[in-house]
Amino acid sequence: MTARLLDGKAIARDIRDKIKTRVAALQARTGVQPSLAVILVGQNPASRLYVRNKVKACAEVGIRSTLHEFPADVDAATVIARIEALNCDPQVHGILVQLPLPAHHDIHSVLRTIAVEKDVDGFHLYNVGGLVLGETVFPPCTPYGVMKLLDAAGVDVAGKNVTIVGASNIVGKPMALMMLRHEATVAICHVRTRDLAQYTILADILIVAAGVPNLIIPQMVKTGAVVIDVGINRLPDGRLVGDIDFEGVRKKAAYVTPVPGGVGPMTVTMLLENTLVAAERATAPPRAAEPVVAAK
Ligand code: NAD
Repeated sequence: MTARLLDGKAIARDIRDKIKTRVAALQARTGVQPSLAVILVGQNPASRLYVRNKVKACAEVGIRSTLHEFPADVDAATVIARIEALNCDPQVHGILVQLPLPAHHDIHSVLRTIAVEKDVDGFHLYNVGGLVLGETVFPPCTPYGVMKLLDAAGVDVAGKNVTIVGASNIVGKPMALMMLRHEATVAICHVRTRDLAQYTILADILIVAAGVPNLIIPQMVKTGAVVIDVGINRLPDGRLVGDIDFEGVRKKAAYVTPVPGGVGPMTVTMLLENTLVAAERATAPPRAAEPVVAAK
C-alpha cells in the first residue's frame, strides 16, 4: 500500500479562495476590512518566520494586519498594556500573541488579557472552556486545520480509534476535545506514556504532535491508518521534517500528510478564517452576533 498524500497546501488554497471572497463581500457590504494584530516578542527565528507567513497570508486574502514587535527583555506590563489598547480598538478584530513568549512572561495572564471576541487563536480560558463543553468558540487553529483536512479527504471520524501523540495546550489537548466532540474514541499520549506503540498501533487515525523526528516508525502504524504529522523539526542539515518516518509510514498508511505542505498551511488558513469570523461578528447586528462560531 502507498498512502495518498493529504495535500494541505491545495486544500488550504481552496479555503483561502473562499475566505478572500467573503472578505471582499464583507467590505462591500459594511465598508469594514477585517484586521488582525500580531504581537511578537523577541528574536526567535522560527517565531519570526511564522509571523511573516501569517502577515503574508492575511495580505493575500485582503485581511489587514499590523505587527506589534517588542524586544525580548520587554516587561510583561508593556505587552499587557498593548493588548488592552488593541482590545479597545474597533478597527482590530483579531489579536494573536505569537508563542512562545520569553520566560519572564506569564503566558496564561497574557492570553487571558485578550478580549474573548478577538481571541482568534482560541487560547483564552473562555474559549478553551467552550471547547471542553462543546459550546461555541474560536477553534484553535492547528487542530481546527486538522479537522478541515480530514473533512476535505472525506475521512469520517465518528466511531474511529484516534490516537494523539502530544498533549500540549495548543495542539494535543484541543485536538482530543474536537475528536471527542465528533464521536471518536480518543487516546492521548505524551512523553511519560509507557509503550507508545501499543496505543499508536490501534489508531485508525494517528495524529502526531510531539516535536521529535522519526518518533513514529512503520511498525507503530496500523495498516490503512490515516496519519497526520503535525510536527515541524529542523534537522542539523537544514531539512524540515515532521515526527514520522515519512517514507516508511507512507508504505503502510492509507493517507499521510507531508511536512512541509501538510498541516502547516492549514493552521495559517484557520487563523484567517477565525479573523474573518471575528470581523463578521463585530459588524453583525447585536442579536445575530450572539454565538461566536460553532466548534469544529
Ligand atoms: P510541546 O513541546 O508544547 O508539546 C509536545 C508534546 O509532545 C508534549 O505533550 C510531550 O509530552 C509530547 N512528547 C514529547 N516527546 C514525546 C515522546 N518521545 N513520546 C510521546 N510524546 C512526546 O509542543 P507543541 O507546541 O504541541 O508542538 C508539537 C510539534 O508540533 C512541534 O514540532 C511544533 O513545531 C509542531 N507544531 C506545528 C504546527 C503546525 O501548524 N504544523 C503548529 C503547532 C505546533
